[in-house]
Amino acid sequence: MPGAVVVAPVKRVRACARAPARTRMGGAERRSARRPWCPPGRLIAMRSCALRRERRDHVVEHRLLDGRCQVRRLHPGVDHHEKKVSVATIMLENDISSGNQDELIPYSTVGKKLGQEMQQRDEQLNKIKEHLAIVRGRIDAACQKAGRDPYSVRLLPVTKTVPAEQLRIAHAAGCLEMGENKIQEAHEKSVVLGDLNIKWSVIGHLQTNKAKYLARFANEFHALDSLKVAAELDKRLQIDGRSLDVFVQVNSSGEASKFGLLPDEVGAFVDQLPNYSSLRIKGLMTLAVLSTDHERARECFLKMRAVQEMLRQEAPDGLSFDELSMGMSGDYELAIEEGATVVRVGQAIFGKRPLPDSHYWPEFG
Ligand SMILES: *Cc1c(COP(=O)(O)O)cnc(C)c1O
Repeated sequence: MPGAVVVAPVKRVRACARAPARTRMGGAERRSARRPWCPPGRLIAMRSCALRRERRDHVVEHRLLDGRCQVRRLHPGVDHHEKKVSVATIMLENDISSGNQDELIPYSTVGKKLGQEMQQRDEQLNKIKEHLAIVRGRIDAACQKAGRDPYSVRLLPVTKTVPAEQLRIAHAAGCLEMGENKIQEAHEKSVVLGDLNIKWSVIGHLQTNKAKYLARFANEFHALDSLKVAAELDKRLQIDGRSLDVFVQVNSSGEASKFGLLPDEVGAFVDQLPNYSSLRIKGLMTLAVLSTDHERARECFLKMRAVQEMLRQEAPDGLSFDELSMGMSGDYELAIEEGATVVRVGQAIFGKRPLPDSHYWPEFG
């Protein structure tokens, strides 16, 4: 009948038939004891990583532990039992810690949100795993084509602009090292994700006054092109008694917008590096011309090989230039054909960045 109002049947509340044998309980206790999750209601308190809900006869606590949400029902004077449910921990943690701790929110909303977040997390995890497998497969194929050992090429996932929560998922997908081009973003992420022991590579230009931050957390620096920065890094590293793997950045395209030393400046620069004993020189890094014309990128990579060859002959003893950090999402296979040992790949793993490179990355302005 058009226009009729459908009235949903009123749900009958079932009387509780059986009480758990363990304890003797009243009716309300028996009803709630049979339900693993609490029925919709209101949260009465939120703590940094626990939800606590007081029922008439017991307390339900949701606590985050090892990527799981642990649900505990505490009956005063009775034993406790626990049920583990997997959820997207980090999201929950963020939600709660950023929220107003005294705010009341419907419990049912929390449960629904957790379910959605858990599903989203799984989807993201699978996508990153799939992309990683594709990139790794293409690296291996490029190695085969060039007659190289696939183990001679390291994939450095580039995580700039990817939020920290997603990097937690990327870590679970197998990204144990991450590259960032901006020191501040890198440092912030290294703090937020400090529990994961990620190896951080700073792959972008560094100002001398920021060297102290890099020395604190980075494992590797790919963009050394100034002796001032080398001196400052060395000073800070000496204080902490650590060393740092370093790549010298070369401007192989000759574009004025790019950082890095011009190929004919590299020799004199490298001669000074033995003065900075906490820098472990590994090799050279470059950004090729970003162009759909692959031959122009190839010229850049070939130039790097020539510089590497020159340094092998002429560089001071004790410095090694075996590594070549070159190749990104658009040109890593080409770079491998021309000798790359580290490829820095972002978008092919994490998807396209929302804004053009020039926005995040002045070098491509
Ligand atoms: C962003 C960036 C990359 C990765 O570029 P994608 O296009 O995301 O693969 C590589 N190297 C440097 C220095 C970068 O800043």
